[in-house]
Parts: sequence; structure tokens; C-alpha cells
Amino acid sequence: MRVLVVEDEPRLADTVRRGLELEGLVVQLAHTGTDGLRWATEDEFDVIVLDIMLPGLSGYEVLRRLRAHDVTTPVLMLTAKDGDYEQADALDLGADDYLTKPFSFVVLIARLRALTRRRAPQRPARMTAGDLSLDPARRLVRRGDTEITLTPREFSLLEFLLRHKGTAFTKAEILRNVWDNHYDGPENVVEVYVGYLRRKIDTPFGRTSIETLRGVGYRLLDPDGELDDESGAAPR
Ligand code: CA
Repeated sequence: MRVLVVEDEPRLADTVRRGLELEGLVVQLAHTGTDGLRWATEDEFDVIVLDIMLPGLSGYEVLRRLRAHDVTTPVLMLTAKDGDYEQADALDLGADDYLTKPFSFVVLIARLRALTRRRAPQRPARMTAGDLSLDPARRLVRRGDTEITLTPREFSLLEFLLRHKGTAFTKAEILRNVWDNHYDGPENVVEVYVGYLRRKIDTPFGRTSIETLRGVGYRLLDPDGELDDESGAAPR
């Protein structure tokens, strides 16, 4: 699950980011309304946490422009204490929920999960590629009847590849979508995690579902789709 957090107070933003990451969420931070709007329109998120008082554009303005651009990502607004007026405004403008500062982290997580669940019917409940399946709601991965235990990062990586099965991605694209942009380590962390994933979803089953495209990146093969060479490619 990818979350965009638009919050200009560095300490609060950082606390929220770390907390959400501990829950296995991928967090993108934006510190101004302008940056938040740019991220929200150019990238894909499952939910947006939006402060109201922001430099650049206010949270209201960000929300108004998002909805004007038909960006329907659920938005939870952070409102000030005693801000009845603010809350009404936020909901009028198309926010899906709001939370009054200071808020409890547990409540924030619960609200975010509720917002994405509410939206869940719009996307396939379960993703598959051949006999490999991933259930995002139950966080369950199976190969045939065998249940596979993945770490949160491995799960996010597989979810991303499955969501776009048959499509090749560069390491940088995978990093941007599965890690967050605070990660400034080497790109070959992707290689490492693809390796972990293969050892869990492929090797024990004699499969090769993640293909390495030399000089390009990776692709999760779609056995149900049209492939020129189904025997697949000699993935490494
Ligand atoms: Ca603020």
C-alpha cells in the first residue's frame, strides 16, 4: 500500500512516515502543497494524508485541484484542534475523512486501512499468475495449495510485479514504487529482493516466473497472457 503524506512539520511528517513504514506501508513525503499536488497527480497512491496549513498551496486547494483533475484517491485531511469549520470544509471539498491534530497513531492507521478497504472493490481482490496467487486484503501468498510466508518488503515487491504482470520494469522503477524515495542505497537491493522472492515463490516449485531482462530489469511472466515463448525465457 502506497501512502502520500503531505505535511510541512518535519518532525510530525517523519514520525508518521516511520510509523507507517513499520506497518509495511510505502510512504512518500511531500512538504509543500505544490509538491503534494505534483506527486498526487503524477504518481499512484492508495491513500493521501493531507495537512491543511501548508506552504505553497493549502491542503484545501490541493484537494480541490485533485478532485478537479479526477484524481479519486481517498484523502484523509489533518485538521487543527477545535476546527469544526475546517472539518466541514474538508468534507465539502471531497475529503474522505479527517483527523484532528494531535492524533493517535493507532487511529491514523485504522482510518487509512478503512479508507483503502472502502475503495477495495475497485481493484481485483486477488491477483494471480498461473498457480501463483496473492490476496492483498488477507496478505496471503500461495503457489498452488502451498502457503508462502513473505516479509512485508517481499510482499510489496510481489504485489507490484503481479499487479503489472507481463510488464518489464527497470530497477529504478521498481525502487520508486516498492521502496520510497528516502531510500538512497544502491539499486541492486532490487536484485537482492528479487533473489529472495525467487527462493520462495519459484525455486522450491521448479518455476521461473520472474524473468531477468538483461540491461532492462525484471518482469513477472504472465502464463495466462500472450507470450511468444512460454517456456520462458531463461530467467536467471
Ligand atoms: Ca502544517
